[in-house]
Amino acid sequence: MSLDITPIDKWGIETNGVPLGIMGPCSAESEEQMLTTAKQLLHKNVHVFRAGVWKPRTRPNSFEGVGEIGLKWLSEVKAKTGLLVATEVASAEHVRLALKYDIDVMWIGARTSVNPFAVQEIADALYGRDIIVLVKNPINPDLELWIGALERLNQAGIKKLGAIHRGFSTYEKSKFRNAPKWQIPIELKRRHPELPVICDPSHIGGSRDLIYDISQISLNLEMDGLMIESHFDPDIALSDAKQQITPETVKKITEELHLRNHQLKDSGQLKELKNLRNQIDELDQQLISVFSQRMDIVADIGLLKKEGNVAVLQADRWDEIVNDRVSSGIDNGLSITFTKKIFEAIHQESINKQNKIIE
Ligand code: PEP
Ligand code: MN
Repeated sequence: MSLDITPIDKWGIETNGVPLGIMGPCSAESEEQMLTTAKQLLHKNVHVFRAGVWKPRTRPNSFEGVGEIGLKWLSEVKAKTGLLVATEVASAEHVRLALKYDIDVMWIGARTSVNPFAVQEIADALYGRDIIVLVKNPINPDLELWIGALERLNQAGIKKLGAIHRGFSTYEKSKFRNAPKWQIPIELKRRHPELPVICDPSHIGGSRDLIYDISQISLNLEMDGLMIESHFDPDIALSDAKQQITPETVKKITEELHLRNHQLKDSGQLKELKNLRNQIDELDQQLISVFSQRMDIVADIGLLKKEGNVAVLQADRWDEIVNDRVSSGIDNGLSITFTKKIFEAIHQESINKQNKIIE
C-alpha cells in the first residue's frame, strides 16, 4: 500500500533547502527553561521547537513531565520566537489538549508506536486534521509495526506525515543507547520513497559526543531532517541529560554537517559511477551463482547425512568454518563482524535446506 503524503517542502515550513531541524529540550521543565532555550536556538537550521510534556519513563517515581502547563509554555515560545512547536502525544486526551494549545507538530513516541490500539486511538482523535504528525520507530526493530502505525494515521487523513528514526532497543550493550540498524530506515525509504524520514541522533546515541557522527550518516543516507535534544544547561536537565546539547553546540554541529546532493552533476563522474556500478552488478551476479553452487553441494551433504542418519548441525565443523573464514576475511580487508554475519546467514540457510532434506 502506498501512502498519500504531502511532500515535506509543502508542509509550510521555510527551510531554505537545509534539512528540517526540530530542536529543543527532552522535557519542558519551566517557562524560563523553555524560553531561554528557544531564544538561544534561533538559527537558520532550527525550524521547530520540541519539548515533551508527558514523559514515558522506564521506572516510576522519576520526573514524568509537567503536563498541560508545558503546552502553554510551548505556545508562548511560538508567540515570542516565531518557531513552530512540537510535542509527543500518547493518547486521545493528549491530542485533544495539544489541539487546544495549537501545537503545530505532534509526534508519536517509540513506546507508543509499538501499540496498535494506542496508535489507532491517536489517529481517530486526529481524524481529518491538517496537522504535521511524525511517527517514531517502535522500540523493537519491527519495520511492519512502524509502517502499520504510519498507515493508521494516513488512513485517518493525515498527509503531512513523516517518520522519525530513533534507533532500536537491543539486549547487547553497545556504544549506542539505541542501535541505529540503518538497514531498517533504508528499507522504509525503499518501500516508501514518498515518506519524509527524520533522524533523532539524540536517542540513538544517548550521549553528546555521538550526535555529530550519527547526524552526518543520516544526511549521507538522504534523510530529510534532524530532531536533536537541546537544553540551555544540559547538565541540570530533568531527563536525558547525558544526550542533550546546548543551543550553541546545535549551531556548531549543524553548520559543520555536509549536505549531500541527490546526484552527481559532473558528466565525467557520472560516467565513472555508471562504470563502477556495472562492475558491482557483474560481481553480484557472480555471488548469486556461487551461492547457488554452494547450496547444491549443501544439498548433497544433506543426502549423505540422511543416509548416515547423522545430525544436521556439526558444531566442530561450523566452528572451523567461522574461524577460517573470519581470518581469511581479515587477510582480505573485511571486518570480522561483516564476515561473521555473511557466514552465519549462509550457514543458517544451509541448515534450513538440510533440515528439509532430512525430514
Ligand atoms: C523523546 O523524544 O524525548 C522521547 C521520549 O523519545 P522516544 O520515544 O524516541 O524514546
Ligand atoms: Mn528524550
